[in-house]
Amino acid sequence: MKAVKFMGKNDVRIFHDVEKPTPKGDEVLLKIAAAGVCHSDLHIIDGSIPVPPGFTLGHENAGWIEEVGDSVTGFKKGDAVLVYGPWGCGHCKPCQQSTENYCDHQSEMALGGGLGIDGGMAEYLLVPSSRLLVPIYDLDPSIAAPLTDAALTPYSAIRTSLEKLTSDEYVVVIGIGGLGHMALQILSSVCASTIIACDISDEKLAYAKQHGAAHVINSRDADAAEQIIKITGIKKAKVVLDLVGNTATVKLAASVVGLNGDMTIVGLGGAHLDWQAMGVVPFGVNLKNPYWGSRAELMEVVGLARQGKLHLEVEKFPLDQAVEVYDKLEHGKIKGRAVLIP
Ligand code: NAD
Ligand code: ZN
Ligand code: ZN
Repeated sequence: MKAVKFMGKNDVRIFHDVEKPTPKGDEVLLKIAAAGVCHSDLHIIDGSIPVPPGFTLGHENAGWIEEVGDSVTGFKKGDAVLVYGPWGCGHCKPCQQSTENYCDHQSEMALGGGLGIDGGMAEYLLVPSSRLLVPIYDLDPSIAAPLTDAALTPYSAIRTSLEKLTSDEYVVVIGIGGLGHMALQILSSVCASTIIACDISDEKLAYAKQHGAAHVINSRDADAAEQIIKITGIKKAKVVLDLVGNTATVKLAASVVGLNGDMTIVGLGGAHLDWQAMGVVPFGVNLKNPYWGSRAELMEVVGLARQGKLHLEVEKFPLDQAVEVYDKLEHGKIKGRAVLIP
């Protein structure tokens, strides 16, 4: 079968003769419908997230059950499913609570398919356990794949701030790409706070307006923080979701978050923040560094999508174009999320 492999720094290659795996025990073989192209892959490819090479990329996967191991129950050939991405040990307390994204053994295991072991940018994916599958019923798996990360990650981050996201408050979303376009729609569905969107692309900002942002600010503007505070007034934003995470965006986030607010840095853009007890962020601010979401939350994301509340903007490409698609993503040329279709 075909597969897109990370072979070392700045080295992504397409292989045509990779062996199709056979599931045993609780394993499941999935016929891939689509694999999302996440910006985290760019951090892996450029070496800023160190992962030993030699595996198939693709950690946002959806498809149809092709074959199940002999102890799998509850799934049959042809069922459309999402693959929950952070593969934990399955046994520790966080895993039992479905938060495999915070598995006790994370430091000693590969993070999941496409993140150190073979992922879904291939014709087939071997999923190590049927517990990692979430049925999607009538959703189209070729469009739904990004729900597993582009939607789940901001969903989980937003959920932990939900108490603060009341109708009289402001929430700032920085970075309206794959995660950001989902974050805007999730916020619009689960809370009534006023949404302020920031990006460096006017095209992405125009798009943000169609997806729930009441205000848009180009963060290339030197006075972006002042523009935001002009909207929020003295209390500033109760929640800031930084979906870029570089030094400039973290600085912006710190200057617009209000007292007792949440500053949630999801992006892995290599930010540096100098800490001082006073003057960096206001008193009471929670600085959060969330990773992905839980299996149960992925079910809730599927629920939102099935209610028609999440419209994934998906650009489809064949597997063979993986390298070109990574290049487009790096240069901000993807609107919403790109997926690779085998
Ligand atoms: P993306 O490339 O689809 O979108 C990034 C967006 O940010 C683009 O619209 C781009 O124009 C915008 N942007 C770039 N620089 C900016 C700046 N200075 N100010 C404002 N906007 C700016 O990326 P994505 O796939 O949505 O991923 C976003 C980030 O989140 C990446 O760093 C990725 O690694 C990270 N991520 C983290 C987790 C987690 O669990 N913590 C999960 C998935 C992705
Ligand atoms: Zn990702
Ligand atoms: Zn575990």
